[in-house]
Parts: sequence; C-alpha cells; structure tokens
Amino acid sequence: MNFEESPEHSMIRSTATEIAEQFGPEYWREMEESGEFSQAFWDELGAAGFHGLLVPDEYGGAGMGTQEMGLVMETLCAEGCGMAGTWYLVLTAGMAAVGLKEYGTERQKETYLTDIAAGDRNFSIGITEPEAGTNTLNVATRAEKNGDEYVLNGQKAWITYSDIADNMIIVTRTTPRSEAERKTDGISLFILDMDADGIDVSPIEKHAINYSNSCEVFLEDVRVPEEDLLGEEDRGWWPLVDMLNPERIGFAAAGTGIGMLAADAAIEYASDREVFDQPIGTHQAVSFPITKAYARMEAARLMRQKAEWLYDQGEECGYETNVAKATAVEAGIEAVKQSMQAFGGWGYAKEYDVERWWREINLTRLAPVTQQMAYNHISQQLGFPRGY
Ligand SMILES: Cc1cc2nc3c(=O)[nH]c(=O)nc-3n(C[C@H](O)[C@H](O)[C@H](O)COP(=O)(O)OP(=O)(O)OC[C@H]3O[C@@H](n4cnc5c(N)ncnc54)[C@H](O)[C@@H]3O)c2cc1C
Repeated sequence: MNFEESPEHSMIRSTATEIAEQFGPEYWREMEESGEFSQAFWDELGAAGFHGLLVPDEYGGAGMGTQEMGLVMETLCAEGCGMAGTWYLVLTAGMAAVGLKEYGTERQKETYLTDIAAGDRNFSIGITEPEAGTNTLNVATRAEKNGDEYVLNGQKAWITYSDIADNMIIVTRTTPRSEAERKTDGISLFILDMDADGIDVSPIEKHAINYSNSCEVFLEDVRVPEEDLLGEEDRGWWPLVDMLNPERIGFAAAGTGIGMLAADAAIEYASDREVFDQPIGTHQAVSFPITKAYARMEAARLMRQKAEWLYDQGEECGYETNVAKATAVEAGIEAVKQSMQAFGGWGYAKEYDVERWWREINLTRLAPVTQQMAYNHISQQLGFPRGY
C-alpha cells in the first residue's frame, strides 16, 4: 500500500484548487440567487481537461479513472465551490463518459466521447420517474420499435440539466416489466437528442443548488434513430448499474468536500470569534463535534479511494461504493451541521455561506441513491435477507 501522492495527482489537485479560487463561495452565492447555470465554470473545467478525465486517449480524453475524478470533485467542493464541484461534472464527465466508453458503438464513441473531451457536449441522465423513484425497475417510459426508429412516450422527474443539455441518456422499457422473463430484462438505454420533437421540459422549484435546474421531462412520440440505442435492446440494466457506481463515488466526494469546506470555515471563525474573552474554539463543546466529524470524513475518504481503485481495476465495487457514499454523506452532513452551530446566529446568515452548504449537502442523503437504499445494499452484502 502506498499513500504517497503521485505527481499527476498533485498536478490535478493544484489545477482544481486554482479553479476553485476563481469560483469561490461568494460567486456561488450570487449564482444561486440569480438561478443561472455557470457557463464560465463549465468552460473552465473543460479547458482544464476535466470533462474528458474518463474519456480514453484516442477520443481526446485523459484516459484516467474515478480516482482522478473523485480527487477533482472533492478538491473543487472543499476549496470553495461546495456542491458545484461534483454537480457540474458528475453527469457528463462521470456517468455519460462511462456509459459511452463501455457500451457505445464506434460511431457513438467518436461522436459523443470526442465532443465530451473537447468540452462541446453536455449530458443529462434520465432515470427517475414519478412512479419509479428508488425502484428503477418500475420505469414505465416506453420505447417501441417502428422501422429503423424507436418511438418514446413517458415522463421523467428531477432530470438535472435537461433544460440545457445537448443529450440525455434515457432509461426506458422496450419490454414492459409484466412481460419480461426477469425483472431486470426489458430495460433499454438511448442517447436522446434534446432538440427532437415531442420533448417538453419544465424545471421543478427546489430547496438549493439553483445554479442549475432539475426538471420534469415529458416525452410524446419522440422519434429516436435505432443507431442511438446505447448497448443492447432489453439488456440496458447492467450498463445502467455500471454508470451508477461513478455517480455514487462523485457524491461521496461531495459529502467529504462540502463537509471539509464548512469545517475549515468554522475552524477559522471559531479561532477568531471571542465571546467570553477567549476564542469560542477553545471550548471543546464547539471544537470536538467538528473534530469528530472531520475524523469520520478522513476515514470515509479512504473508503471512497478504495472504491475508486477497485472500479478502475475493473473489479466488483458495489459494496465499497455504497459504504463510501453512506459514510461520507453522514460525516459530511454532521460536519456542516456542527459548523453551522459554531457560527451561532451568523450560521443562519447568507453571507457566511454555511446555511447554503447545509441546504446543498442535504441533497446527498436523498440522491443519487438514498441513504436507506445504500444501507439496504450494504446489509444484503453482509448476509441479511433482501427486503426490497
Ligand atoms: C435535486 C435533485 C436532482 C436530481 N437529479 C436527478 C437526475 O439528474 N436524474 C435522475 O434520474 N434522478 C434525479 N434525481 C432523483 C433522485 O435520484 C430520486 O429523488 C431518488 O432516487 C429518490 O427517489 P424518490 O424521490 O422517488 O423517492 P421514493 O422512491 O419515493 O422513496 C421515498 C423514501 O422511501 C425510502 N424507501 C423506499 N423504498 C425503501 C426500501 N425498500 N427500504 C428503505 N427505504 C425505502 C427512500 O429511501 C426514501 O427515503 C434528483 C433528485 C433531486 C432532489
């Protein structure tokens, strides 16, 4: 085991830190208030080569793995970007790049991976439906073959970036669940062109992260050429599962990243703020809850790094990925909560940002997999009978 940081990783860390310095907490506070997508941040991440981290060299990418992706995301989050550090990269640079690289046809790879690496294409990922949240196998969006096209009808919910993305990797059923031999059969993935006729997108008003929209998407007789099927018809479940692990790794990085950002701000504040003639940080009632959360974040980060390493070796990593996600999120949420406490009433003021990080980090216990479902997966791996 070697914990020494490689020169490549040091370079990635310093590049991410330099970007985060340009897009600090004040910037994101303003972007949240204006409700604007940050094209400037997105382009800066592209210029640094971060869109194409997971894209193989032959398509213009860096040919790296989730170890580098997690490092970039955690650094961006921790150095000032908060949730934006993971949010802007996880769908295109994480999930879409993995799905296309592993399951795309040569034409799809040349078209989409090349564009992702060049910073010219943005993807959303359409899994959730109003009647199929946590239980993805219940998706009911239908794709029916008609000549050399498929015709899509249905509805998706919460699809982040679907209002601005060029494409969506959409999860559909080509065979209804009631007719499939196994419940995992009958799922098909498509690369949807968001300019196609019959797509209607409507943002959902939400609690935080308003520098991007998550939307309801209605599909009525949307025609998709058969060449835009990703992977095999009716066999889309396993490619989808492969794309979910990088997403969980990304959210584990957000958990520790936002937690460390808030904790560092609170440590600075508590070292300076005097109430009873000494800094409040001298009281263990203030320092210990943050310190304990920090220690838990350090351990959760190691678990994420193990999950990333396994994923990059092509090894099974579902257990490690879920442990990393569940523990990073719990530790990060505790860190932000205790940091807010250290700020006292000022923790409630927008100008200190900790209230925004609190709203942001709460998403990580609800998405992309809820904490309960992550623990369901872990407990099943431990040998408990499956209850879902
Ligand atoms: C801001 C935001 C952005 C999002 N972006 C996207 C996106 O880009 N693409 C996308 O596809 N989706 C996206 N989602 C959706 C997200 O992944 C889902 O909201 C999430 O998976 C939960 O689904 P649900 O809301 O329908 O909850 P439900 O499935 O209705 O679950 C409700 C509650 O019951 C619990 N529960 C259900 N079954 C069990 C069980 N067997 N055991 C224990 N507990 C259980 C759940 O854990 C949860 O707490 C986003 C959500 C949000 C809020």
